[in-house]
Amino acid sequence: MAETFAGDGEMAGRCRALDWAATPLGPVDRWSHSLRTIVSTLLVSRHPMFLWWGPHLVQLYNDAYRPSLAEGGRHPRALGMRGREFWTDIWDIIGPQIEGVMDQGKATWHEDQLVPIVRNGRLEEVYWTYGYSPVRDDDGSIGGTLVVCQETTARVLADRMMVTLNRELVVERSRLADVFREAPGFAAVLRGPDYVFELANDAYCALVGRRDLIGKTLHEAVPEVAEQGFISILDAVVTTGQRYVGREAPVVLVRTPDSPAEERFVDFVYQPLVEVDGTRSGVVVHGSDVTEQVRARREVERLLAETERAVVERDSLVRQAQAARSEAEIANRAKDDFLALVSHELRSPLGSIANNAQMLAMEICGPVTEKQRLALQRIDRSQKHLLTLIQQLLDLKQIAVGHMAFNIGAVSPVEVLEDASAIVDWQFEKKLHVTFECSDDLRQLRVRADPDKLRQILVNLLTNAAKFTPAGGSVTIGCEADEDRVHITIRDSGIGIPLSYQESVFEPFIQVRDSRQPSITGTGLGLAISRDLARGMAGELTLESEIGVGSAFTVALPRTRPERPL
Ligand code: ADP
Repeated sequence: MAETFAGDGEMAGRCRALDWAATPLGPVDRWSHSLRTIVSTLLVSRHPMFLWWGPHLVQLYNDAYRPSLAEGGRHPRALGMRGREFWTDIWDIIGPQIEGVMDQGKATWHEDQLVPIVRNGRLEEVYWTYGYSPVRDDDGSIGGTLVVCQETTARVLADRMMVTLNRELVVERSRLADVFREAPGFAAVLRGPDYVFELANDAYCALVGRRDLIGKTLHEAVPEVAEQGFISILDAVVTTGQRYVGREAPVVLVRTPDSPAEERFVDFVYQPLVEVDGTRSGVVVHGSDVTEQVRARREVERLLAETERAVVERDSLVRQAQAARSEAEIANRAKDDFLALVSHELRSPLGSIANNAQMLAMEICGPVTEKQRLALQRIDRSQKHLLTLIQQLLDLKQIAVGHMAFNIGAVSPVEVLEDASAIVDWQFEKKLHVTFECSDDLRQLRVRADPDKLRQILVNLLTNAAKFTPAGGSVTIGCEADEDRVHITIRDSGIGIPLSYQESVFEPFIQVRDSRQPSITGTGLGLAISRDLARGMAGELTLESEIGVGSAFTVALPRTRPERPL
């Protein structure tokens, strides 16, 4: 008994304590040698073991088996009980297996079966590989059935984990492949000394304009790239293990068959492909096509350079213009000085010419022939013309430099008109029909003007009307007022002014040449001075004219009112 139940395990103790005589096995000293041997082996084994013995299948088990009896009072009740009475709940299943062993010596084998047991204070899923084996008695007959178990939970879980991991790996791989394929940047894996394409994503294929890259060497698949020095860079990356970064690198590619090679610009990285053992087996290429950015930036740079050139050019033109302006100013000053000098120097001899011609005409110096009188009249006309020219030039200069003094007051435009008409009356003589269309109530009107300047303007306009209206024509002098202004209009039925001249006649020295009236004299300064004078009095001088119909010049001047004192 002592050897059969040797050991300090719980079950050895319980076996020692159990009254085996009360069981179908009878007292231990009557047990067969085989039974004692198998029980003593079972009790010291670390493998979970369970034994049914004898025709009543009396039960014995060791410490290692104990947890698989779970909770619920099966342990230690199971020890020494008859199998059929103990496993009532599962006898249908295990009964035939045990009987198969007992009757026919047929062993069973169950691999990685899930048998949950209570362990570490909770119900754990535990996997077992176990077998039912016959145990021979001393006489060679089958005396019992031994169950030997081996826990395989760790391996089963590891296997299961492996399966899960593999499945996840497959999913991850395909996800990675999708990302790789659809990545906006280009990417390829080149393996081996000849750089065989193992992977190339859509962007890479689009960049090089080819799809059938996989399995080909770089040289076969994209020969133009291979010939542009990229292979030696790849070699250096594999040899040194140092990655290579290219920025805006130009690469010439034949992107569609039969089309000419095209220059593209790429940002790219060559990264060594390092194996688990540390060897470098190829290169991972990735990057992006930056052609459009590079071209756009170059265009911006070109435009900037052009703008800079334009700015430099503009500055030089401004400088030239400034130089020209200051030259013109110097010339202008010289001209003004000259004009002042000439007009001053000419006026007194002209006065003396006029006086002497008058004296001769008055026959103070003796009788004058008819021919001489005509000559004296020509001298007088020329002298007057010259005097007018000098006076107008001086006026123009004074207006231009802002030295013209305006003696502004409340002036009756009708009165000034009458004055002016009286002055030029002789020019109309009997050849023109002159109408004065100013109603009497307009006599009350006043304009803000310098009366002498207004008269000068009107004399000039009336003189022109007389000069440019053929005999038999008409001149109408009108005066109208609106809220703010008085409009004095000199309208003639003369030759008219071509549309293309209607603005330029207000510029100095512009005269419309008319071959039908070659004898008409003038300086071309009258209208320029008149408009400047009108504007100097806050007024305006405008023209409406039609060839062959006539011209109408209107002087507009601001009204004065009692409520608007000057
Ligand atoms: P001038 O009469 O001394 O030539 P103006 O400056 O007064 O100078 O006039 C400029 C030009 O405008 C004239 O030479 C003439 O050709 C044209 N002109 C002026 N008034 C009239 C008009 N009433 N009818 C036709 N042409 C005119």
